[in-house]
Amino acid sequence: MALAILVSVCVLSYRAMARTGQDRDWVTHSNLVLERLDAVLADATEAENAQRGYIITGDEEAYLKTFRKAVESAKREEQQVRGLTADNTVQQRAIDGVKRLLAEKFDGLEQAIETRRAGGLAAASEAVSRGADGQRMEQIRIAVASMREEEGRLLVQRSKVWEESRRVTRGMIFGGNALALLFLILAGIAVQQEMTQRKRAEDEVRQANQGLEERVAERTAELDRHAKELARSNSELEQFAYVASHDLQEPLRMVASFTQLLGKRYGDKLDSDGRDFIHYAVDGANRMQNLISDLLSFSRIETQEKVFESTSCDFVLNRALGNLALTIEESGAEITWGALPQVMGDAKQLSQVFQNLIANAIKFRGDKPPKVEIQAEADADNWKISVRDNGIGISPEQASRIFVIFQRLHTRTEYPGTGIGLSICKKIVERHGGRIWMEGSPGEGSAFFFTLPMAKIQEKEVRQRDENRVSAASG
Ligand code: ADP
Repeated sequence: MALAILVSVCVLSYRAMARTGQDRDWVTHSNLVLERLDAVLADATEAENAQRGYIITGDEEAYLKTFRKAVESAKREEQQVRGLTADNTVQQRAIDGVKRLLAEKFDGLEQAIETRRAGGLAAASEAVSRGADGQRMEQIRIAVASMREEEGRLLVQRSKVWEESRRVTRGMIFGGNALALLFLILAGIAVQQEMTQRKRAEDEVRQANQGLEERVAERTAELDRHAKELARSNSELEQFAYVASHDLQEPLRMVASFTQLLGKRYGDKLDSDGRDFIHYAVDGANRMQNLISDLLSFSRIETQEKVFESTSCDFVLNRALGNLALTIEESGAEITWGALPQVMGDAKQLSQVFQNLIANAIKFRGDKPPKVEIQAEADADNWKISVRDNGIGISPEQASRIFVIFQRLHTRTEYPGTGIGLSICKKIVERHGGRIWMEGSPGEGSAFFFTLPMAKIQEKEVRQRDENRVSAASG
């Protein structure tokens, strides 16, 4: 809108200025007409004076030239006036009259000159005093005066118009500038307001951000507090489990051995119910011993000092297989494995992982003779180790449950166990910076996977060892 108004102000003031120019031209024009009319009169007077001079002196050279020049000039001026007033019929008529009077006047003057030339001074002065020259001059003056009057009237009128259009132009330019100034001020105010608003919005955002940051910081501190609390209560719990299971072992051992002793010494004095009862008591005590020993291993994982060293998984696996030799032999299990990596870790704990997984693979076998396959593969920065079996398998929905302590999918009569084995594996793997999971489906066998972080140095060592193995085989 501002642009539209400024453009129209520009156009209007330009037109007003053009009008003013035209009006000024008209004033100049009238002045020119007046000037020319004066010149006509002056030339006529000069022609008359020159003619008088000639008549008195008879000096052609001195006066007749001036006379002719004045006559010519008067005619030219008269022509110019005619041209200048072409648009004005009143002045055109008047200039006709002036032209006629001039012609008559100049004829009369010429005749007197001829008389002077032919008849001398006396005849000429006689002709002049007889002629109507003086009267004609007066008529010319009157005609020119009436033309001047008409042109003067026009001049006054045109000056007024010019003055008026000058006033309009001045007003237009002043008004336009005032309007532009007004818009400038309005725009300034709008920009100022916009800036204030933006600043306010920015302040609000900043405040909101600050609030958010404070809340995040509070929340983080709270989470930190909770984490510390959790870690403390966890370690307390582990300590408790450790102490409890450790201290429970001794009385339990007593219960077990004395019940066994009771059975041995007085068994034959008891009836069959009594012997059954003793058998149940011994069995219960044995199971509790197993449970406590598993619990102790579980709680020892974290309480032990963390000493990780470069460890060969081959070595670790062999140790586990050694511990399981009897089970393997009894079950007739076939265990196979590929190249295994060198990792940073605790050999004893890693061997426990292999042992638990292989023991489970054999324990949860189906009708077929058990087959266990151990493989290792590398991804971007981890070793992924798998233990596959051809056993009963687990449904995928149960797959994450089994890593929770005491979680079992079978009754004790189906498969013996305490439900701690996999939770021990999980704890050890996580302590080494890896994760453990299971894939498989019922009847299809199970595959347990766990990862161990790969140090670049380890990778190199593994490659070196693999190369050695290849050269040893070909050798
Ligand atoms: P436990 O073997 O003492 O029962 P675990 O923690 O080792 O306890 O295993 C938890 C449960 O996971 C087992 O009771 C069993 O149901 C299931 N499970 C573990 N390993 C296998 C496997 N290889 N095949 C099928 N089921 C398994």
